[in-house]
Amino acid sequence: MLSPRLTTLFLRDSLRPMKEAIYSIRMHASQNSNHVSGAERLCNKADLQELAAAMVSRALNHSKGSADSLRISVDRVKAEDVAGGSLPDITTIEVSDYEQGRRAASGMLLEFGVSSEAVKTTLEALARGAAPGGLAMRGAMLVDAITGERLEQDQARGVRATRMGLTAEAESTLRAALQGCGLDNVHVREALVLAAKVLAAPGVIAELCWSDDPEYTAGYVTSPERGYLRFPHLKPLGETKGGRAFFLSPGADIERVISFLESQVMLFDGIGKLHPDIKWED
Ligand code: AMP
Repeated sequence: MLSPRLTTLFLRDSLRPMKEAIYSIRMHASQNSNHVSGAERLCNKADLQELAAAMVSRALNHSKGSADSLRISVDRVKAEDVAGGSLPDITTIEVSDYEQGRRAASGMLLEFGVSSEAVKTTLEALARGAAPGGLAMRGAMLVDAITGERLEQDQARGVRATRMGLTAEAESTLRAALQGCGLDNVHVREALVLAAKVLAAPGVIAELCWSDDPEYTAGYVTSPERGYLRFPHLKPLGETKGGRAFFLSPGADIERVISFLESQVMLFDGIGKLHPDIKWED
């Protein structure tokens, strides 16, 4: 059963039949069995080879190290299985360092209905590396927004949101908008698409992310109402521990959330508003 929000997306999208076949392409790379890099896109057949080559190059040249094992999966997607939608609004919250960034992100999560216990335990897990042994997870933690309990079955793998992408028109509109504020980079673009899909999942009330890429210190929180709130600092430069948490409302149907995140195809064809920056005051 689809959420009302998604049903609307299906109806709206079904008015615009896809002209070309769509493929989902996914990459996962590891080193000594530990997660190094992953990527997912939707594309047309003509772009598959170029994207596959770019994903191989990314896995072999990652700042966390060169992958020694790499998988690429390609699946053709049925047009009737594709849901549409728009990316979330974007706001940058200016913070002076990662400690203030984490206080600000915690404050926003509390506002979105995540309990202080759940915020505290989740930030601690991301800071120490949320997979067993303090390693990076391959996917995200699923966290009960009230109790803070972790709900994913496998704490090394987590849950990966896949099978989502942007139309070519939406991508160029997004890039033009992001260029205006110096944010047109692959981290922000990919995070927006991922966040859009996660926010559409039934039962997800918020997301928290900071990258495990040692050269990228920014992170974000999202909620359906406020969209994507970006913090330039959520971790110190050089830190390799990072990850993602999807916060679920109590009683959410976990199997349904996972099935949506892993299987529902979503092609976003619109972007959100770009709001002026906000300076965080503790
Ligand atoms: P990245 O933003 O690519 O540096 O990813 C940071 C962390 O977020 C990764 O180590 C994973 O734990 C998690 N992650 C990355 N991509 C996904 C995804 N598609 N779905 C769920 N979690 C993800």
